[in-house]
Amino acid sequence: MTADPNCIFCKIVAGAIPAKKAYEDDEILAFHDINPWAPVHILIVPKRHIASMEDITDAHAGLLGRMMALSPRLMRELGVTNGFRHVINTGADGRQEVPHLHLHVMGGPRPWARG
Ligand code: AMP
Ligand code: ZN
Repeated sequence: MTADPNCIFCKIVAGAIPAKKAYEDDEILAFHDINPWAPVHILIVPKRHIASMEDITDAHAGLLGRMMALSPRLMRELGVTNGFRHVINTGADGRQEVPHLHLHVMGGPRPWARG
């Protein structure tokens, strides 16, 4: 599936819902989390709809690698200098709230609101 009409992150990718973008290319979008846990809290998403890590296969290794590899560059650009945290929540027990794969990247001075 390229886009899910009911998916909030697909709507952000399509520009139908606003977001504060931090990075964009042909296959990846990064934007600021609306309810940040940390002074800097970015979500990195594939532009095409992938519901969760449960749908990931070897064929997605390049995409996931590019999402991970983008994160240190983004943190640097956003002024994070003392480390950062990655989180991916998957499915119900993983407490995933938005069913469009997203990599949380959080940083900035402690204390944080959560995490
Ligand atoms: P998760 O529990 O991993 O599915 O996290 C979903 C994240 O998406 C939460 O941190 C939310 O604050 C964030 N979120 C939900 N809606 C939006 C939105 N419209 N723009 C930016 N972030 C959002
Ligand atoms: Zn989606």
